[in-house]
Amino acid sequence: MEISVRSIRKEFDRYPALHDVSLDIRSGELIALLGPSGSGKTTLLRLIAGLEFPTSGQIFFGMDDASAKSVQERNVGFVFQHYALFKHMTIAENIGFGLSVRPKATRPAAAEIRRRASELLELIQLPGLDKRFPRQLSGGQRQRVALARALAIEPRVLLLDEPFGALDAKVRKDLRRWLRELHDKTKHTTVFVTHDQEEALELADRVVVMSQGKIEQVGTADDIYDRPATPFVFSFIGESSEIPVIVSGGRVSFENTLLGIDAEGTADGPARLFLRPHDLEVVANGGGAISGEVMVVRRAGPVRLIEIEVGAARHRIEIELPADDGEHLSGTVHVRPRRWRLFPAG
Ligand code: ATP
Repeated sequence: MEISVRSIRKEFDRYPALHDVSLDIRSGELIALLGPSGSGKTTLLRLIAGLEFPTSGQIFFGMDDASAKSVQERNVGFVFQHYALFKHMTIAENIGFGLSVRPKATRPAAAEIRRRASELLELIQLPGLDKRFPRQLSGGQRQRVALARALAIEPRVLLLDEPFGALDAKVRKDLRRWLRELHDKTKHTTVFVTHDQEEALELADRVVVMSQGKIEQVGTADDIYDRPATPFVFSFIGESSEIPVIVSGGRVSFENTLLGIDAEGTADGPARLFLRPHDLEVVANGGGAISGEVMVVRRAGPVRLIEIEVGAARHRIEIELPADDGEHLSGTVHVRPRRWRLFPAG
């Protein structure tokens, strides 16, 4: 099912949580909504679900204007971070719940509901647990059951709000892989909220990066990593440093030093130069390089991180070197970026 979000604005007591958000989700796509706390991810998910209604704008499910439709009419399946299973029901009853509360005319027979629950338990790789109770399952297993419960109603769209947020890192990682495999099998159009960039970039076909109620960029992991559209996306994804530079006739200078980098078509005038720690190398010669004073050298797992201060305003730049290098760096060093990104200032 394709979903088209068109110029959505959502206010809570006149406070705008979303401003003019538009997004086209393709049928069968796994989409992650990624952004810091308060950026509007959950609000957008709840609007798609029909748990909230837009102040203005529309949401289409295929050709249907779903903007005013209820959750049931939209036929969406949900999993939340703490979507507790019903404690006094067996796993099979939990999975079959959505079907068993349907109006009589569309409700499958009890035996059929049990059969579907068993099938879904196979799909989520927990076969034979039909008669267990939620307390007898681990947290990761319970979230898989919550997903099976969402899938049981054969939803047109699956909506997941930080479904693995409450689990520990190892289980989270396993479930992430598992969800990707499950999605490849079932091909449900899925929208997934997370504030974990690794999770979003590893799992999703496309990632929607949000900040302050707006979409900053929609793209694949490669787009987001290699072609960040805005300064926000660059600094939100991975470690980064920034220095103010001047672009003039395709050349870039920092405080009167001409840097040996190309302006990539950035217009003349003040600009912001963004750098990643692993894209920087320390060079012997100062020509065309950024020079600075070593402030901190520290070991971080397999690498060594060097912080230097550059320019009159003492901007901090972080450099990542192999652990064998840089242990005794001190004083003035010269740094050259292998890769960089320029954005016009202002
Ligand atoms: P988090 O990662 O913390 O869940 P989020 O990106 O999902 O954040 P939202 O929950 O969508 O962000 O919230 C966006 C903004 O809208 C926030 O400033 C929040 O305080 C506000 N907001 C959300 N729901 C309501 C509500 N029911 N009433 C009033 N304000 C709300």
